[in-house]
Amino acid sequence: MTIETHKETLGFQTEVKQLLDLMIHSLYSNKEIFLRELISNSSDAADKLRFEAISDEALYENDTELKIWVNFDKDANTITVRDNGIGMSREEVIENVGTIAKSGTKEFFQSLTGDKAKDTQLIGQFGVGFYSSFIVADKVTLTTRRAGLEPSHGVRWESTGDGEYDIETIECPKHGTEITLHLRPGEDEFLSEYRLQNIIKKYSDHITLPIVMPKVTTDEEKNETTIEEEVVNTATALWARAKSEITEEEYTEFYKHVAHDFEAPLTYIHNKVEGKNEYTTLLFIPARAPFDLWDRNNRHGVKLYVRRIFIMDDDEKLLPPYLRFMRGVIDSNDLPLNISREILQHNKQIDAIRSGTVKKILSALENLAKNEPEKYTTFWTQFGKVIKEGVIDDSGNRERIAKLLRFSTTYDDNTTQAIGLEDYVGRMKEGQEKIYYITAENFSAAKNSPHLEIFRKKNIEVLLLSEQIDEWLGSHLTEFDGKKLQSITKGELDLGGLENEEEKQEVEKASDTLKPLLEKIKTILEAKVSEVRVTYRLTSSPACLVADANAMDASLERLLKSSGQNFGGGSKPILEVNPQHPIVIAIQEEKDEERFKNWVLTLFDQALLSEGGQLDDPSIFVKRINDMFISMGNLSSSRIITSD
Ligand code: ADP
Ligand code: MG
Repeated sequence: MTIETHKETLGFQTEVKQLLDLMIHSLYSNKEIFLRELISNSSDAADKLRFEAISDEALYENDTELKIWVNFDKDANTITVRDNGIGMSREEVIENVGTIAKSGTKEFFQSLTGDKAKDTQLIGQFGVGFYSSFIVADKVTLTTRRAGLEPSHGVRWESTGDGEYDIETIECPKHGTEITLHLRPGEDEFLSEYRLQNIIKKYSDHITLPIVMPKVTTDEEKNETTIEEEVVNTATALWARAKSEITEEEYTEFYKHVAHDFEAPLTYIHNKVEGKNEYTTLLFIPARAPFDLWDRNNRHGVKLYVRRIFIMDDDEKLLPPYLRFMRGVIDSNDLPLNISREILQHNKQIDAIRSGTVKKILSALENLAKNEPEKYTTFWTQFGKVIKEGVIDDSGNRERIAKLLRFSTTYDDNTTQAIGLEDYVGRMKEGQEKIYYITAENFSAAKNSPHLEIFRKKNIEVLLLSEQIDEWLGSHLTEFDGKKLQSITKGELDLGGLENEEEKQEVEKASDTLKPLLEKIKTILEAKVSEVRVTYRLTSSPACLVADANAMDASLERLLKSSGQNFGGGSKPILEVNPQHPIVIAIQEEKDEERFKNWVLTLFDQALLSEGGQLDDPSIFVKRINDMFISMGNLSSSRIITSD
């Protein structure tokens, strides 16, 4: 393949150019992290080689002692990081360090804030660590060969980070990757054994491979110099060490490595499970939701190890989708080393590890909520929506997950979701049997819904739900602590023991008197509503819409409609009118058919609007209202200039 061997100069993708500019010109606050990024990549490369070698031992090329070498050359002004990991083919080099083929790139640029410190933190999260080399280097040379390829299939890549790179096929006797940084002027602080060792200890101590630096000793008498390899890091799996011996800093650096995050985690969970099925989990809750949190399939958060050997990235078998924000490792003592994805699918031990780990995570969250409420608030703000999926997905743990949920309620009308169902139940009124909630398009539509009028009057707390997922939540979480959850926009208003007989009788009386009116309204709204009845839930609004008891919530229907799903023809809502409202009283007297019709249509449209719904034709609504104003004589006719 002659075409492959020639030297060519290729352009970076536009995004890479932007990224490099960003690195070089703005992300200067924490230069030393370039070394962490390179070591992290070498460590990943070693993991990949180990994994592939499970089925093809020849890939080691008789070199099973995987290591990372760090060196510097004062005269040449260079730092070199080398590994004997998986290496890369020519295509892989182009793909991995010549373009950004990763889906996260666009999101990365969208997330940039212009705040240097914040933007620096984003870099690791978006997996663009390699380019951090250009913070300190004005030229980077990478030579590599993929394990298993012929020595003649080595690759040399070089770039000055200004939009282009050279790539060339070379002879490369050893597999693995070597990266040489040609330091920018003024960066010679890094040309020091002491400095480099410190950076390695600070950021990379937890790396399970030995990170070695050459140690030169000179025997003055014999006039001999010997070069030995000195291991700089601890090089034992952090999770295998005793909790009491691990510092917070070590946990944090380990997290940053596994999670590709620049920020410290919110908290960690470190557990050793002993007995028939032995395994260790070291899991972290990030402080901030990753950009791809909403992709239920994109899960690389938790790595599976078997006896300290990396096996694979998260597979859906390790954790359920609603815990996809978790990061860390699970290390099993019992699984076979040559385990494949197929075996994982039907493995009882894995099932046990999964359900044990889920329980551990739930109890860690319970503890956080109890003992560190501020952290729990952060957690809920970042991951609450995902946890809600758990109520739907994980019926076995539903009650426990339900306790972790936090809501906005009419208790304080606060947008911050801070009230748990236990708080709610603890405050339930004498005679209250149900947990009431309302779902709406957004928080203010929920908070200001006319449906709340009677609840506010009677001082009954209502959960204010306004996230998309809440629609589904409502249909899965039907009970909590023996109390039914009840949507207040659905069916007849049922206040159970809170009902007032007198008020009820009044409504019934009104129903009788208003019967002719209700029927007339029904004829006009025939196509839009299934029923018109007198309401008990309004105090200040003239009318509201209610979903049929068996129907989905009004807002659920809108959700389905907006996502283009067919929901079986759609059930029509019920219009409830408030017999005490002046408008309702007034229209009983209306003799003009046309005006009566306009009143009714306006009532309906208003009710729809206050639900946060959309009018089929807003301009007709506006025109009708204007016509009514004019006919009411509120506008002095002399002020209206006509053109004839
Ligand atoms: P990330 O590590 O998050 O994937 P990086 O920018 O650090 O992002 O690295 C980009 C890619 O380049 C890696 O995913 C990997 O495929 C490849 N790569 C980088 N360094 C090495 C290395 N030492 N050995 C093999 N592949 C590497
Ligand atoms: Mg990396």
